[in-house]
Amino acid sequence: MADRYLHLTGTAPGRFLTRRLGLPQPAPLRRWTLETPRLEGPLLHLTAGASAVTGVAEVLSRSGLPVVGDTDRPAAIVLDATGVTTAAGLGDVHAALHPVVRSLAPGGRIVVLGTVPSPDDHHQAAAQQALEGFVRSLGKETGRGSTVQLVRIPVGGAAQAAESTLRFLLSPRSAYVSGQVIELTTATATPGPAADPAAPLTGRTALVTGAARGIGAAVASVLARDGARVIVLDVPGAREELERTADRLGATALPLDITAPDAADRIAAAVPDGLGVLVHNAGITRDRRLANMPADRWASVIEVNLDSVLRTTDELLKAGVIARGGRIVATASIAGIAGNTGQTNYAASKAGIIGLVRSLGPRAAADHGVTVNAVAPGFIETKMTAAVPLFIREAGRRMNSLSQGGLPVDVAEAVAWFAQPDSTAVNGQVLRVCGQSLLGA
Ligand code: NAD
Repeated sequence: MADRYLHLTGTAPGRFLTRRLGLPQPAPLRRWTLETPRLEGPLLHLTAGASAVTGVAEVLSRSGLPVVGDTDRPAAIVLDATGVTTAAGLGDVHAALHPVVRSLAPGGRIVVLGTVPSPDDHHQAAAQQALEGFVRSLGKETGRGSTVQLVRIPVGGAAQAAESTLRFLLSPRSAYVSGQVIELTTATATPGPAADPAAPLTGRTALVTGAARGIGAAVASVLARDGARVIVLDVPGAREELERTADRLGATALPLDITAPDAADRIAAAVPDGLGVLVHNAGITRDRRLANMPADRWASVIEVNLDSVLRTTDELLKAGVIARGGRIVATASIAGIAGNTGQTNYAASKAGIIGLVRSLGPRAAADHGVTVNAVAPGFIETKMTAAVPLFIREAGRRMNSLSQGGLPVDVAEAVAWFAQPDSTAVNGQVLRVCGQSLLGA
């Protein structure tokens, strides 16, 4: 459904009127296109104190943006704050960003590099945790479609672990991601083969559930763009729409209810050479307040959104169908973080996904060489949200730092980042794709 308010504020009279009324001013977001694959402008590399990780400059030099130490109009700013270990050291963060933050180009990116707060050093932990509050606040201040994130690199680690993450965050692909904290692991999963930058998923098979339409179809499209052979799965009742989506993307359609007891076997049979990327996207809502919710509405949501995800994941991992270097990406929701009236079943299922990802991630990496992550979409413009009553829909759209809803492609780009062969150090993470929603923040 079109966001008419966004169009209105894109016109001169609309902008004048909404400013006078003190209403939100959403900036049109610049997303990835073939013609504009990168941010336009230089990347300003700053350091607060001494860096505690190696190779930051080298990784930034491969970002595709010209790296400079000084400029009056950066498209992106990377502040290396990995060496900040004391409260006094936070002054270096202020000193580095205060003079330049105003000059960031519209639609610009700020990424702060930090390290994991230490359980053994409360001064280091305080200083590094402080960066989280800093980043989340700055994300609410920058405006004009700009985003701000914190990426934690393991202490003493190499910035190379952050390469795919920086490539994503410093590009138009992360347009609707802001105020996020990403904690990288010491990479224990099997690294993938060196990738063709234009088609990094070449040679990999990706299966996306619930892919006839909406977010799932967008995920399938972006994974196909990145070179994957794609299988789109949806319920047999959606066969026609599924086949149309498959034809459009050059994908293979697999009509299958993911809750079927033999779903994992049917998936395994469809991928004789194994699966490189498994995206659990299928999801349903059956909203009612708990007092009015019959057991069947509770059970169907838990079954589709959580139990079938647990079951198929376990069975496909156990059978070795998901190859070493493989990626599992599940779909949570900010409802699973913030909770939502009428959605005890849905929020429970989506919070369950977060529990699954955090617990299984490290073990799947150690035992199978596979990473497990989740996206947690906020308000995304799909059929699901078009059905929301007007007032709640408008509130959902505006109650975030970017003052607009996201598009299915925004979630898809995040899934594609998790799926990258060099995202090995990204594991057990839940990335909110929500424009820094106020809900659950
Ligand atoms: P959608 O309803 O447009 O698409 C969901 C798809 O899943 C449909 O094609 C449906 O047929 C399929 N599906 C449902 N049950 C299935 C089953 N048993 N087996 C196979 N396929 C099944 O929804 P969407 O908005 O594109 O959402 C996709 C995912 O993102 C869901 O998990 C949803 O909970 C989550 N999400 C969406 C939003 C949003 O704002 N749209 C926000 C947070 C989370």
